[in-house]
Amino acid sequence: MSETAFCYHCRTHHPKEEMRLIDTKAGKRWRCIRSIEATKKGRVEREAYGRQVTAMNKAEAQRKARLVLNGRAATGIT
Ligand SMILES: [Zn+2]
Repeated sequence: MSETAFCYHCRTHHPKEEMRLIDTKAGKRWRCIRSIEATKKGRVEREAYGRQVTAMNKAEAQRKARLVLNGRAATGIT
């Protein structure tokens, strides 16, 4: 039988060989590798999505700024 530890992330017990001892604010706690990997992957995907949204917002802002400039040029208002 393999030793188990309480996973603070899943709130259940896993075999220790599938877990890592993590330093948290509350002290050392066990967490399963699976949930660590899932969080890491999720963070990378979220960051990639965030960059995409930022780039899109920037492009949109530039497009609007150009429209305003073009509008002013067309009407002669500066
Ligand atoms: Zn877990």
